[in-house]
Amino acid sequence: MELQQLLDNIDAKRKADAERFKKLDEDKCQLCYAHGADKRSLVINCHYDIKEVVPEAIDLTNVTVETLPKRGYYLRICKACRGRLLAKLEEWRNECIALILVPKDHDGELREEEPGAYIPLRVHGRTRMVTKVEFHELTTKKTV
Ligand SMILES: [Zn+2]
Repeated sequence: MELQQLLDNIDAKRKADAERFKKLDEDKCQLCYAHGADKRSLVINCHYDIKEVVPEAIDLTNVTVETLPKRGYYLRICKACRGRLLAKLEEWRNECIALILVPKDHDGELREEEPGAYIPLRVHGRTRMVTKVEFHELTTKKTV
């Protein structure tokens, strides 16, 4: 794919997301479809395409709402989905702090690699050295 075509595709997706944002039902959870008052706005901005793992997320680049940041990804969610996210964040935090004393490189990748892990693979914004089996599993993973 040529660079210009890639940039055009990104631009088209951002415009489509801005249209999706305009049509959002602010009383509907984008993830579990719970409907009713008292939904929450979630914005994630970590310089990574969140839509790779949460396709429902809306890229804010072309969304012009004063109360929202100009960059990042948006989700309208119910309190139960927010609670599930917070539980995952707690789990993630605990997993990370458990690695404080483990030797790692400047990107946080662990120095002890598995035998046979010689294939560099970009996964969720990080480069991991993986085995042939892991490479096959990770590159053929299906997303819904
Ligand atoms: Zn929900």
